[in-house]
Amino acid sequence: MAHIYDPTNIFARILRGEIPNKTVLETANTLAFHDIHPQAPVHVLVIPKGPYVTFDHFAAKATVEELVDFHRTAAAICAMLGIASGDGYRVISNAGVNGMQEVPHYHVHILAGRPLGRLVERAVT
Ligand code: AMP
Repeated sequence: MAHIYDPTNIFARILRGEIPNKTVLETANTLAFHDIHPQAPVHVLVIPKGPYVTFDHFAAKATVEELVDFHRTAAAICAMLGIASGDGYRVISNAGVNGMQEVPHYHVHILAGRPLGRLVERAVT
């Protein structure tokens, strides 16, 4: 999968301040905001500010500072929203066509507040 970053994607536009977002937490390298179409009582997106497309792109190419900041911010959100001490949660990152990634800027979804079902639907054969 190519790691060619499209700077017109909607999260790039959020980072440039061109469209609004409901920010949960912002740091030097990371932004977290509420998903516009929440799939659970808690549905927060965590994105790096750098131009990374997918999990593997970010994991391979981000600086140590970016990697640490991203994960510490996600952990802070879990603590802030009370889900770290709650009944559990799920962190998801979709990539590419098979992952059904809609926005080609790396992000994780943090979902909590209800039973979340199976991880992946079984394929119909
Ligand atoms: P993915 O399919 O993993 O790329 O998920 C993209 C997510 O971004 C979806 O859950 C959308 O509801 C969410 N989304 C799209 N546009 C916005 C926006 N302007 N603000 C907040 N969330 C958004």
